Amino acid sequence: MLSVLESAPAGQETDTALLEALERGDFSRSTLRSGLLARGETQEQIFALARKLRDEHFPTCEVEARSVIEISNVCMQGCHYCSMAKGSGIKRYVMKHEAVVEMADFLYERGRRVLLMQSGENQAKAWVDAVARTVSEIKQRHPDFEIILCLGNMSEEQYAQLKKAGGDRYILKFESSVKRLYEMWKPTDTVEERLNCLKLLVDVGFKVGSGNMVGMPGQTVDDIVDDLLLMGEYDLTMNSCTVFIPGEACGYRDEPIGDVDFAFNAMALMRIMNPDRLMPTTSCLEKCRPSGQYIGLMAGANTITIHDGTPENFKKMFPIYSTNRFTPDNSHLLNAVAKANMTVSTHPLQ
Ligand code: SAH
Repeated sequence: MLSVLESAPAGQETDTALLEALERGDFSRSTLRSGLLARGETQEQIFALARKLRDEHFPTCEVEARSVIEISNVCMQGCHYCSMAKGSGIKRYVMKHEAVVEMADFLYERGRRVLLMQSGENQAKAWVDAVARTVSEIKQRHPDFEIILCLGNMSEEQYAQLKKAGGDRYILKFESSVKRLYEMWKPTDTVEERLNCLKLLVDVGFKVGSGNMVGMPGQTVDDIVDDLLLMGEYDLTMNSCTVFIPGEACGYRDEPIGDVDFAFNAMALMRIMNPDRLMPTTSCLEKCRPSGQYIGLMAGANTITIHDGTPENFKKMFPIYSTNRFTPDNSHLLNAVAKANMTVSTHPLQ
């Protein structure tokens, strides 16, 4: 099924009415719609406004660098866009407690102070107990290591357990706010369940990040407008947007790649609507367009994930969007940050 996103009008001149609306905080549906469709000069101006607001709220012009450890690819969900979906036939792994702690020590010694632990979704008690134990040990060894978890849907008790163990932040993307799309892309879950989890995470005290995917099968510009509006309804500390990449082993492998300009524009609008939140420039942007992560910074992003925490033998087994996932190294990211006139912070920005 084709993505039904409209293509943007060509050769636009600067749309001053649109920019003025965004500047004065008019986030009506029609303003957001035009913002998503903007290209050329208007798009540049929207990015400039996003950067201005980011720099007002984060005046040190730093990009928060976080290391990721992909601790397991075991997953109970069957998302069509994900190559780790249940039944996808890939080899499964779970990193051992000692290996994760040792990796965290190594990253800490390298100067990192923000650690993202990511996995497939698994609510088995043994798994959640194991993650809680690992988080608790890492926190004991390095109390100032900011720990971000991205482990999917769980119960309130399980979220509370992970918070108590020392987790600081949790990323749970709502993916799409539109019921029809969510349940088409993620047939093993419901949007109500996902949004309830988001609420539980805020309630148990995590700093919570959430966001959407853009350029997905069946998605329209109006659907993305709905996503942008939903973000303001939750007390979040981070917003994010990824662009759809059809991974070789996922159900949507024959679908076309998403249009990255919609992702850049959605990011800029997220920044303009909620200027004090963190926002990542993700590696899938780079996969879609050379210098994509630099453009993400120019559209208002201020965090970056460094893939230096997952052991090489497991990296290929964590194919979120591709087995040839672009996993940026340090020097590439440093260049993108310097080019955007920002500096890398290994300390948490929140
Ligand atoms: N199992 C966890 C982690 C998922 S991976 C969870 O469900 O929360 C992190 C994010 O990558 C997802 O939330 C999704 O927004 C994004 N993602 C996954 N597959 C993708 C794809 N094919 N293209 C673009 N983004 C994708």
